[in-house]
Amino acid sequence: MAGEEHRDLVICNRCLWAASLLKGSSGFSICPLCGSEKLETIPVNDYESHKMSITKKGSINIQFG
Ligand SMILES: [Zn+2]
Repeated sequence: MAGEEHRDLVICNRCLWAASLLKGSSGFSICPLCGSEKLETIPVNDYESHKMSITKKGSINIQFG
């Protein structure tokens, strides 16, 4: 397992705050920005089939492959 990189992506559905999590981290239960509990976690395996883009307006588009 040493050196293996594994990241999950966490996105807030309310304010679109996003962060990547290292494997084994406790993650987030609420959004650190707006306090929303509606966080979306995307496993890295799924992330590979995603195409994510952030628009100039700050919204995040995720296309499921
Ligand atoms: Zn938020």
